[in-house]
Amino acid sequence: MIPPGETIGILGGGQLGRMLALAAANLGYRCHVYAPEADSVAADVSAAFTQGRYDDEAALAAFAAQCAVVTYEFENVAAGPLAAIGEHAPLHPPVRALEVAQDRVNEKSFVEALGGRPAPWAQVDSAADLAAAIARIGAPGILKTRRDGYDGKGQWRITDPAAAAGLDLPAVPLIYEGFVRFEGEFSVILVRDAAGDVRFWDSAQNEHENGILARSTVPAPAFIAAQVDAARALAAKVADALDYVGVLTLEFFATADGPVFNEMAPRVHNSGHWTIEGALVSQFENHIRAICALPLGSTALAARGAVMDNLIGDAARDWAQILSDPANHLHLYGKAAVRPGRKMGHVTRLIL
Ligand code: AMP
Repeated sequence: MIPPGETIGILGGGQLGRMLALAAANLGYRCHVYAPEADSVAADVSAAFTQGRYDDEAALAAFAAQCAVVTYEFENVAAGPLAAIGEHAPLHPPVRALEVAQDRVNEKSFVEALGGRPAPWAQVDSAADLAAAIARIGAPGILKTRRDGYDGKGQWRITDPAAAAGLDLPAVPLIYEGFVRFEGEFSVILVRDAAGDVRFWDSAQNEHENGILARSTVPAPAFIAAQVDAARALAAKVADALDYVGVLTLEFFATADGPVFNEMAPRVHNSGHWTIEGALVSQFENHIRAICALPLGSTALAARGAVMDNLIGDAARDWAQILSDPANHLHLYGKAAVRPGRKMGHVTRLIL
């Protein structure tokens, strides 16, 4: 067990790290953030900050030597250099989870091997591969970068196979996915401790705008609730297969034929922000408890439900108006510059 008072290292400097650090502080821990950028909203609320590249093994080792345990809030980090951390402090979740989740081909293959069902997909490394993929899977579909995609970035919708032939493909590994006709989207968020105890939060219905999460609502409507057990069974298999410690998220499409796996994130997730007020113990606190080997807290609802709206770009400028409703829980991430599509904060309302 890593007792309160010790230092927790967090790789990544964004809002997920910030909310992890706030939860850790409530339990009496200190956090040390490691991130490449000079401005870090996680470092703003942490005891220490190292600015360093994710491939600088000497800097990672020096950072880990000052931590009792290290975690990450960002999965687009090369796995190789992270071995430098393991020599000094345990790293949770395991590096294997990062390797699986950061590459869409690895992720889909891994989940299929465990009996999960993703959208039909094909690896695309050339224009010929893309033509073959469209011929087999059909259009519409979505061409995505295998790595480094988030919030709908690195994605191209393909509706017309003929137009695809003229695409100027980016020189990075790609994947083509058939377009899933879904009735809704939802996520399964679980926490697993080192002894293998797994707990799930209620699954939220997630609504996206322009590829970015806009709103999460619990409880989800009945057509989603009916698919949650099957989705949870898959998520638990993924967590067990990875010998996972911490919070893990799997995103699904709810279709007429049951849940279709979309993607996984080896970390706390935007669709679980409602758990700060809406669950007895939040995803952030339970992640800290799991990686420090403390007893896990209850994931049960603290109200009848909750609605979380992301504040994206200029929406965060409405903070005064949001606060004028006394029932709103406002979270601003302290980012200096407002940019279109940038997650600036979120607001949660409990359904009482
Ligand atoms: P992703 O970053 O892959 O989760 O994609 C972001 C959003 O784009 C998803 O939450 C969906 O709303 C949509 N999307 C991605 N892939 C597909 C797909 N194969 N079929 C239908 N919609 C998709």
